Amino acid sequence: MTNQEDLAKNSSSLQTFIDDLYFKYKPLHDGVVAKYIPELAKVDSDLFAISIVSVNGEVYEVGNYQQLFTIQSISKVFAYGLALEDHGRDYILTRVGVEPTGDAFNAIVLDEQSKRPYNPMVNAGAIATTSLIKGLDPTERLNRMLEMFQKYIGRDVFVDISAFTSERTTGHRNRAMAYLMLNFGMIDKPIDEALDLYFQQCAVMVNCHDLAVMAATLANKGINPMTKQQAVSSRYIKDILSVMYTCGMYNFAGEWAYKVGIPAKSGISGGIIAVVPNKMGIAVFSPRLDTRGNSVRGVKVCEELSQHLGLHLFECSGLEVSQFRG
Ligand code: GLU
Repeated sequence: MTNQEDLAKNSSSLQTFIDDLYFKYKPLHDGVVAKYIPELAKVDSDLFAISIVSVNGEVYEVGNYQQLFTIQSISKVFAYGLALEDHGRDYILTRVGVEPTGDAFNAIVLDEQSKRPYNPMVNAGAIATTSLIKGLDPTERLNRMLEMFQKYIGRDVFVDISAFTSERTTGHRNRAMAYLMLNFGMIDKPIDEALDLYFQQCAVMVNCHDLAVMAATLANKGINPMTKQQAVSSRYIKDILSVMYTCGMYNFAGEWAYKVGIPAKSGISGGIIAVVPNKMGIAVFSPRLDTRGNSVRGVKVCEELSQHLGLHLFECSGLEVSQFRG
């Protein structure tokens, strides 16, 4: 049976399974919402949604999946894809590495030898990546970024101005990182334009359903399964998924890879996306975070989904040697 047939056969039970997960974890109130960007502190901390979109466009979802929130760090995945398309893998590697850090997402640390930020999923690497997005001026760069998100989501997107200005006026740590990278020639002037575009990208509004479609697009060779539009060149999917796998879950990335075993990215507004190549995209939204910055309910739900559906990429059980022949 193919993966698609498997998924179709189990579709009603998949909806029941995520409904059960929703009710199981709804009473879980551990964790706290991110407050260092003042606008984020205003969120209703009890919101909770789970969405799954298959590469065939089947949708399974429960909870507040239409609730909009700012995408925050999950945007880094998609900005990285755009930068790869703009410059190619070799050039991007000279500016941003692909090594996990084991440090917090906002650590002010660069690779000692190369002076590159460690990877595009931590703030320093994401700021460097975004500074490479092509365009004649800030408006064109922002428009190209928004068009890219639109292809992944399948509708018009917008930047939440309150969240953008809130981070712009308080994001001194990100500003410090940008200046450090300027000092080492890893990003170019004008710094404020690069930071503005980074803060805008983090303030793009999405809902949990959108995030699952975006994850499903990455699972589907870069083609949005709902609109059939190519959102990113298939040639860069493996680059994107590799850094998600090793660096996407802050300083929990190793344990996540070990336990859940699929490429993922989380953001401090409470979203998590996970990509099951050639099968589906998963998204969970719940704003209360653990000490590493990952959604508490989001991690639990993904752990259970991975176990129940056998999603771990290195899951070998059930495969016969004969299936590898010919
Ligand atoms: N805009 C946030 C920052 O740069 C994103 C962080 C995150 O979601 O991890 O601090």
